[in-house]
Amino acid sequence: MAGNWKMNKTSSETSEYFAEFRPLVADTEDREIVICPPFTALDAAVKGALGTRIAIGAQNVARAKAGAYTSEVSGSMLRATGATYTLVGHSECRKHFGETDEVVLPRTIAALESDLTPIICVGESPEDRASGQTEMVLTRQFAKGIGPLTPAQFGRVVIAYEPVWAIGTGKTATPEVITEAHRIIRREARSRFGDEAAEALRILYGGSVNPGNAKTLMAQPEIDGLLVGNASLDPQSFAAIVKA
Ligand code: PEP
Repeated sequence: MAGNWKMNKTSSETSEYFAEFRPLVADTEDREIVICPPFTALDAAVKGALGTRIAIGAQNVARAKAGAYTSEVSGSMLRATGATYTLVGHSECRKHFGETDEVVLPRTIAALESDLTPIICVGESPEDRASGQTEMVLTRQFAKGIGPLTPAQFGRVVIAYEPVWAIGTGKTATPEVITEAHRIIRREARSRFGDEAAEALRILYGGSVNPGNAKTLMAQPEIDGLLVGNASLDPQSFAAIVKA
């Protein structure tokens, strides 16, 4: 169960969040929780999660290890904060900062080389869905961003299916739509990496998840977890989703 805070919360707001969130999820030992705050709040989040099983992730990672890449943050810098995950290829990065399928692969490899677990985001735009291109888009995103990984690298990634039309819009994809997309992703994984690797792959769903729909979504066998944006900003609401 992963939370993406997007560009929200200062470090002091992050500390307050963890003080409230920790006891709420203290009895959920059987599930993994990841919270991805902005870079500037990573330290506070790592401190806030100390002594719990809550993992902390970044929202992106630089392709390069170091050097003249103003505004970027490298995998080793992230790892040094205590973060253990990072999002890669989030649709808001694709939309606002021109990130492409081609960038997803080197960012994923950079994350893995720094011992971070990448949560790779894929998903079709509203136009892709309207024109019947969803399968083609997911297949292309897999082929360019994930397919070239080695089997060992692939075994360490998490994929999040996030249809762009469902992110921050209040329009959750139906269980049927999500199941179909997850099957396409798992099929691509099977054909490139084999049955065992495809079965072990964790595929999260993201897009307007809230405490009211989380239980229905988690009841779908194809959905291994959720990537939650806006509803993860409130400790009560994210805890309710984690428990669902
Ligand atoms: C996200 O930011 O990854 C996301 C799924 O956002 P929301 O839950 O707000 O749609």
